[in-house]
Amino acid sequence: ILKEICRKTNIKCYIVGGFIRDFFLGVKNYDIDITIEGNGIEFAKILNKYINGTLKVYDKFKTASITAENYIIDIASARCEYYKYPAALPVVKFSDIKEDIARRDFTINMLAYDVLNDAIIDYYNGLKDLQNKVIRVINDKSFIDDPTRIFRALRYSGRYGFKIDDKTDILIKKAVNGGFIKKLSNDRIINEIFLFLKENKTDLIIESMISYGIQKEIFDNIKLNIKKINSTINNGDIILYRFLLLFYNIDDKGIEYLLNRYNLRRKYIEALKELLLTKNNLCFLKDNCDNIYIYNTFKNIKYEVLMAINISEDVTIKKIINHYINHLSHIKLTVNGNDIRNAGLNPGPVYSIILQKIFNAKVQGKIKNHDEELNLLKL
Ligand code: ATP
Repeated sequence: ILKEICRKTNIKCYIVGGFIRDFFLGVKNYDIDITIEGNGIEFAKILNKYINGTLKVYDKFKTASITAENYIIDIASARCEYYKYPAALPVVKFSDIKEDIARRDFTINMLAYDVLNDAIIDYYNGLKDLQNKVIRVINDKSFIDDPTRIFRALRYSGRYGFKIDDKTDILIKKAVNGGFIKKLSNDRIINEIFLFLKENKTDLIIESMISYGIQKEIFDNIKLNIKKINSTINNGDIILYRFLLLFYNIDDKGIEYLLNRYNLRRKYIEALKELLLTKNNLCFLKDNCDNIYIYNTFKNIKYEVLMAINISEDVTIKKIINHYINHLSHIKLTVNGNDIRNAGLNPGPVYSIILQKIFNAKVQGKIKNHDEELNLLKL
């Protein structure tokens, strides 16, 4: 389709960046970035006539995106960027594919597919670096212009198991030691951390972040945890879960620090506080705790917090949490106020006391099903 449009309209169109990188790595990628030498929005409108997806146009940025089936296709006009000062947002100017590629971060992301000519464009030996599994920048000022690239380098290196090229490694160290991380806005920093949490190899990425001395710059004295950080959970919010694992060792001061520095959504801060509080209460849990006590300890605790606490080395705690998750957390009454009325009692505050008693009996395992609940009600 792209080729047909290019032929008919004489527009030059290129597939660029991550999709091409992942194509050569044999990795499925549903994000397709297209660069047009010319008007990207016009091209997007024509393309969408063929594929009939959902088109969104961003006039301000002169870009468009189409969602079709599982794919997200981003279409932009070729542009070059320059930075007025370190870590500034770039000044953008429209240009050709050559300049558009030159503004990109690493050689492995600097590959493009020229649709009309059915050819790979590889000005910076990206294919060779893909083969040799290397992350490399082409510009000595790259990390100074945009220090988010430091995080991006770590992310790609961890994700694909690529080595950071020696010179690139030195440039990262120079940028970190030169204090350039601090020039980034806190929003951009925390955004990169959340991107880390989405990866499969978050542990390796965080480890290398620590080894570059970045942790101190962004989290001060907070001690990060990487144990089980790559694990997933069956239900719930995986990113929240991993966030809690990352900050598993946090204390009140640490939470205060995060709160003051980063614009974190409330659910993250609240879950962190819940984690800290629950961890402090764990010392009261004993092997012989009864079900009611366990239920009441955990009933208001988020699933992600419980799963995070489950990385604890304490066998008793693990056993109790698993018991709660598997056997107690889903318990619900099947009888209700109507059943009490049918049993002959007039409505009143006593209803909630009765229901609570039946519920407790269920949590204690004394009754299991609807009939047994009804029987207890009649008693
Ligand atoms: P993935 O989404 O799989 O992490 P991607 O390569 O698609 O990888 P995006 O963040 O979507 O990554 O960026 C698209 C492309 O834009 C990249 O391939 C890269 O060429 C370029 N790019 C993104 N951020 C930067 C940056 N900070 N500096 C230079 N180029 C960048």
